[in-house]
Amino acid sequence: MELDTIAAISTPLGEGAIAIVRLSGDEAIDIADKLFKSPSNKRLTEVDSHTIHYGHMIDPTTGDVVEEVMVSLMKGPKTFTREDVVEINCHGGLVTVNRVLQLAVKNGARLAEPGEFTKRAFLNGRIDLSQAEAVMDLIRAKTDRAMNVALGQMEGRLSKLVQKLRQEILETLAHVEVNIDYPEYDDVEEMTHKMLVEKATYVQIEINKLLQTSGQGKILREGLSTVIVGRPNVGKSSLLNSLVHENKAIVTDIPGTTRDVIEEYVKVRGVPLRLVDTAGIRETEDIVERIGVERSRKVLKEADLILLVLNYHEELSHEDVQLFEAVKGMDIIVIVNKTDLEQRIDLQQVKDLASGRPVVTTSLLEEQGIDELEEAIGALFFQGNLQSNDLTYVSNSRHIALLTAAQTSINEALTGIEEGIPIDIVQIDLTRCWEQLGEIIGDSVHESLIDQLFSQF
Ligand code: GDP
Repeated sequence: MELDTIAAISTPLGEGAIAIVRLSGDEAIDIADKLFKSPSNKRLTEVDSHTIHYGHMIDPTTGDVVEEVMVSLMKGPKTFTREDVVEINCHGGLVTVNRVLQLAVKNGARLAEPGEFTKRAFLNGRIDLSQAEAVMDLIRAKTDRAMNVALGQMEGRLSKLVQKLRQEILETLAHVEVNIDYPEYDDVEEMTHKMLVEKATYVQIEINKLLQTSGQGKILREGLSTVIVGRPNVGKSSLLNSLVHENKAIVTDIPGTTRDVIEEYVKVRGVPLRLVDTAGIRETEDIVERIGVERSRKVLKEADLILLVLNYHEELSHEDVQLFEAVKGMDIIVIVNKTDLEQRIDLQQVKDLASGRPVVTTSLLEEQGIDELEEAIGALFFQGNLQSNDLTYVSNSRHIALLTAAQTSINEALTGIEEGIPIDIVQIDLTRCWEQLGEIIGDSVHESLIDQLFSQF
């Protein structure tokens, strides 16, 4: 495939210690060489691959020195894109970095589209589609754990599993083929049936396992959507502040889809929490009052976790009971706050209302009970085995959709086998399953989908 040479600033925009302009393509080294001047007059076209060179970027038309740089030069195919790659390390001022990029473009490179370097790595066969998607996830990853998931996927964990399943299906299909071609051998048919059930069940179990992780995967990627509710003055802001300060907000003040929804990310015992509508808590006393009952119900409905705060120093009120009604059936943790004051709440009544869900007592003022609260959050999410880091999580919605489709196909195949449906029909289901799994790693995807995926950067 003939691809032109692309260029982009590959570090975040803004003032930084260094910024990198990256070139990739057949002309990358020639273009960099035209702009580069080293103290010893060495030419980039003549140096070894995977070496770094000190020098200056020069505007070839005027001879002006634009920037002092370190240039890394890597010849394909041992590069991210498998093409020749040059990385020009600049000092980081936005203006100079842009000038270096403009010079590269003036001298034969094309401005890269979003995601185009990764797209090339895919097109040139260095990574498969799920790995390319992982690169995008990695860039967006908001928490360490999400990063590990993305890293694992990038290393091809999901791909390897999917490939293994496809291989199993392929072998089964080959076996079925023999059966169709030589129906006169009875034992072949018997064996085929046994093997079909065995292999299809194996595939089914593995797909189910992957899909089971998808809920967790999504949460790891996006954070557990968490809402703090409670009557005015019970300590909601104090709780928010304590969670944020204890756990260092990872991303603060991200405006949500509407301007008044503010989110904050914190990580509690490895669980990423996306605290929703924190503006509501901070600016006015009462979330319910501020956003109206209807909307607050909606916010509650969409939450993965509700932190319901009560006052230890007051009797349970009608409003408190209503709050319990509103969060029926949801994951909640009840926080009874202000234990430093005299007890006026009936804790047994609280426990009854919580009906088995965790109840924690705190004095946020005196920093008591926060550990127990964090413990409860961790326990809720990781019920047992999910902490394992080598589990393959599926977190990408495209993968989830394809796995779900593949699950349907394999289920149909198995039902077909059990019901004694002609084997060539079962074969169709198995083939479909094989194709759907293939789409995850990009074996059978259309050009348009690829363009769309990479443009999401
Ligand atoms: P919100 O209206 O629910 O957000 O409640 P705030 O977090 O603003 O707290 C209301 C008042 O209660 C503030 O004056 C806090 O300092 C106080 N407060 C919060 N937690 C405690 C606690 O554990 N004990 C005591 N005695 N006061 C607290």
